[in-house]
Amino acid sequence: MKYSNSAKHLARFDHQYVWHPFTQMKEWGQASPLIITRGQGPYLYDIDGRRYLDGTSSIWVNIHGHRNGEINRAIRQQLNQVAHTTFLGLSNPPAILLARELIRLAPTGLSRVFYSDDGSTAMEVALKMALQYWRQRRTPRPKKKKFVHLSLAYHGDTVGGMSLSGMELFHKPFRPILFSTHQIDPPYCYRCPLHFTFPSCQMACIDPLEQLLRKDHHHIAAVVIEPLVQAVAGMIPSPPGYLRRIRELCTTYDVLLIADEVATGFGRTGKMFACEHEDVTPDLMAVAKGLTGGYVPLAATLATEEIFQAFLGDYAERKTFFHGHSYTGNPLGCSAALANLSLFKKDRTLGKVRKNAAVLGRLLRDVAQESIVGDVRQCGFMVGIELVKDRKLKTPFPLTQRMGHHVSMEARRRGLLIRPIGNVLVLMPPLCVEVTHLTRMIKILRDAIRCVERKRLAKTPNSKKTISRSKPMTKIINPKR
Ligand SMILES: *Cc1c(COP(=O)(O)O)cnc(C)c1O
Repeated sequence: MKYSNSAKHLARFDHQYVWHPFTQMKEWGQASPLIITRGQGPYLYDIDGRRYLDGTSSIWVNIHGHRNGEINRAIRQQLNQVAHTTFLGLSNPPAILLARELIRLAPTGLSRVFYSDDGSTAMEVALKMALQYWRQRRTPRPKKKKFVHLSLAYHGDTVGGMSLSGMELFHKPFRPILFSTHQIDPPYCYRCPLHFTFPSCQMACIDPLEQLLRKDHHHIAAVVIEPLVQAVAGMIPSPPGYLRRIRELCTTYDVLLIADEVATGFGRTGKMFACEHEDVTPDLMAVAKGLTGGYVPLAATLATEEIFQAFLGDYAERKTFFHGHSYTGNPLGCSAALANLSLFKKDRTLGKVRKNAAVLGRLLRDVAQESIVGDVRQCGFMVGIELVKDRKLKTPFPLTQRMGHHVSMEARRRGLLIRPIGNVLVLMPPLCVEVTHLTRMIKILRDAIRCVERKRLAKTPNSKKTISRSKPMTKIINPKR
């Protein structure tokens, strides 16, 4: 598409009219915005024609690359039929076929698909389903109303999603309207809250959950978890067996397990869903980000037949799930998702991710040598690199120093787009990347880290001596396990 306005005009209009998400707009207004006009495969191009590797998969959504011919064709074909019709009281072919496909791929036991628009709504749906389920199943347990989650969890920006998170920075102003929950410490092995090491710790961090469930399961509706990786928390992988253990506890104490696969779903971890690594079937599962391959917004909440059945009854019994969005089951989104899923088969995406994740793991060893890299965490194509001031003491940089941000800006100058979470650099390449792309990404990352560290030392000439030379801790979770 040609833009009648020049880059300069667009930048000015952006500054004048737009409010960007998770962005300090004062700072934004002081620099010219990076305006992306097109993409191809793992690359994005800005309005001046500069090329960047998409190191975030456009915030964790893209899978088979940009402008993929088959996904584009699927959307165009649907557009020639109809763009949108309501799912309230009507149905449409792509949504029907996608539901069948999702159930085929999902962990055994999940049998129903409820559509919504994004990860937050998919989670909100899961919470509402869980509560309503306990009220109206054959032997009702209406006292089961509380949710348990990890203290560093992230489940979206809606009121339900925010309530299930311990991220003070994001949620402080909203605390008065958030509902109360039980939080448990996450399995953050690099900074273990219990000061243990895996595996000799025997996952002692789960003990408080067991105690809580034993004591209070009569009041607990569900345990909510991001399976395998607490993503927004800074790509924190859980130790092998952790998820399985949580599933066992939920079963023992008759509490639902809600898996938030919004970040981990669709091949990110080397399997279609992260739950598969530990043969876990959750009672409810939320998917979004990668569902359409990163082309249009679409999400789904998958439920077991047990949960679905509890909502059946005569209309007057008021067992209906009264929830839905204007764009529920949107045919364009569902067509894109069907094309996305069929590409997994055709391109053997999962096998390729597992192979390339091993290569990525080897490349990351170099990054782990950098003096300000404290921890490198990887699960498949999800990577977190935690920057620290002192490796031995694991001293974090003050967040106001914005080290992650500075490294990202240096990476951008070198042709790689990434977005950090505080001191954690996040690399989430599209699943379609080749080894050459990964090599380039890691080279740029390393150069960017070095450049920022050089600049920091130049500002504080005496700090050089204090750099710790100890070996960093590197935990690479083998996606094949
Ligand atoms: C991104 C994310 C969400 C929220 O999804 P949106 O589409 O941004 O609303 C929820 N849970 C997890 C684990 C996520 O990564």
